[in-house]
Amino acid sequence: MAAKEFDVVVIGAGPGGYVAAIRAAQLGLKTAVVEREHMGGICLNWGCIPTKALLRSSEVFHLMHRAKEFGLSAEKIGFDLDAVVARSRGVAKQLNGGVGHLLKKNKVTVIMGSATIPAKGKVSVKTDKGTEELVAKNIIVATGARARELPGLEADGDLVWTYKHALTPKKMPKKLLVIGSGAIGIEFASFYNTLGADTTVVEVQDRILPVEDAEIAAFAKKSFVKQGIKIKEKAMVKKLDRGNGKVVAHIEMGGKTETEEFDTVISAVGIVANTGGIGLEELGVKIDRSFAVTDEYCRTGIEGLFVIGDATQGPWLAHKASHEGVMVAEFIAGGHPHPVKPETIAGCTYCHPQIASVGLTEAKAKEAGYKIKVGRFPFIGNGKAIALGEPEGMIKTVFDEKTGELLGAHMVGAEVTELIQGYVVGQKLETTEADLMETVFPHPTLSEMMHESVLDAWDRAIHI
Ligand SMILES: Cc1cc2nc3c(=O)[nH]c(=O)nc-3n(C[C@H](O)[C@H](O)[C@H](O)COP(=O)(O)OP(=O)(O)OC[C@H]3O[C@@H](n4cnc5c(N)ncnc54)[C@H](O)[C@@H]3O)c2cc1C
Repeated sequence: MAAKEFDVVVIGAGPGGYVAAIRAAQLGLKTAVVEREHMGGICLNWGCIPTKALLRSSEVFHLMHRAKEFGLSAEKIGFDLDAVVARSRGVAKQLNGGVGHLLKKNKVTVIMGSATIPAKGKVSVKTDKGTEELVAKNIIVATGARARELPGLEADGDLVWTYKHALTPKKMPKKLLVIGSGAIGIEFASFYNTLGADTTVVEVQDRILPVEDAEIAAFAKKSFVKQGIKIKEKAMVKKLDRGNGKVVAHIEMGGKTETEEFDTVISAVGIVANTGGIGLEELGVKIDRSFAVTDEYCRTGIEGLFVIGDATQGPWLAHKASHEGVMVAEFIAGGHPHPVKPETIAGCTYCHPQIASVGLTEAKAKEAGYKIKVGRFPFIGNGKAIALGEPEGMIKTVFDEKTGELLGAHMVGAEVTELIQGYVVGQKLETTEADLMETVFPHPTLSEMMHESVLDAWDRAIHI
């Protein structure tokens, strides 16, 4: 059979790949997407979406315990873990079906199978029915990543879990150890702790949430500790002894190694890009610690070969993958898109309380040589936060004192993952403190704290 020809073949139908394919098709390019497992990739099936569905259940559970505070009554509050998980899987399934529909609507050819690139401009797909050969003027590799496993701490699905096991638990952990305090580790710690697991988080760096602003991370830590999460910083899990339904963790901290018994361990120590075995290195693509090295347009240096999303440099987030997908499709179609700037990508952690940030932390802004002005506003000073019963949190803004440029925004508290986009838009429009101060924020909203934080940076806050 003659090889099918396309303008663009996308490998991987995660938020990077399926968005790239749709945009390419919209721009009139004959496009195919190859996917070996599921539409929507990790994000829809095993990442962003199902975790948020689980966290919503734990949030409602938490609120039910607070019913009395709101003048309500709720008795015999409990949960059915299987039903919680079933809801999460159902949400993922619904969205996964939606991606298939969108690809069809945009006339993207979908090929289910595992792809390799045997030569420049060629894609070979192993399907159920055999091998399909494709010829492509452009190839976009969007193969994503998988959980990183450390020697001795490998997941077994029973006692030691990766995020996939943690999303589909067969039992409720009683005593849980979470290794790693990035967004994934903290979200699972928050979920299981709220449902009643005795939870410990171990972080090798000197503080949890190491990429966040130090003040925000400290605020979040205080809240987690209040909720009963035990936190061990500058600590390293050296070994896990497994047996009799228990794991004994050897944790090194302050030069000493202590042992502690757990019934479940979640390993959340980062990701490894799916760049091996596809043919990238053979074609001359540079790989750095599993991630493909690309330029600002996701070009690999090989003509017509792009790598986007988790398979290339970070931040490893779904919205970054999608935006790169759009950018590359437009570039291929002859457009002049702006490159994606990593510093403009907001990061959100959907624990309780939520955390969200964009741009430079206070420390990074100082390191970069800026003379800065910092504004802060606490949730306790905001009417809507009090009305919601969510008085815990803060919004911090970092400005360049000389130009008034918003360098960074950092938040902890209810719904901050929804609020952060206001600052993202502001930064994109190169806003200054003056524009933000003159903007009228609706009342009563949590967003008023974004205004007050800016005012505070210039000693003009009204409500503190
Ligand atoms: C537990 C968890 C929670 C997360 N929460 C968030 C969040 O809240 N917000 C956020 O922004 N990000 C979150 N992420 C990260 C997010 O999931 C990723 O950044 C995003 O999925 C990356 O998209 P991608 O398209 O690059 O890759 P992926 O989503 O990994 O998709 C890659 C696809 O390529 C397919 N594939 C791989 N190799 C081949 C091949 N050879 N042939 C054919 N198909 C192939 C895979 O099957 C997969 O479907 C989370 C991740 C995890 C694990």
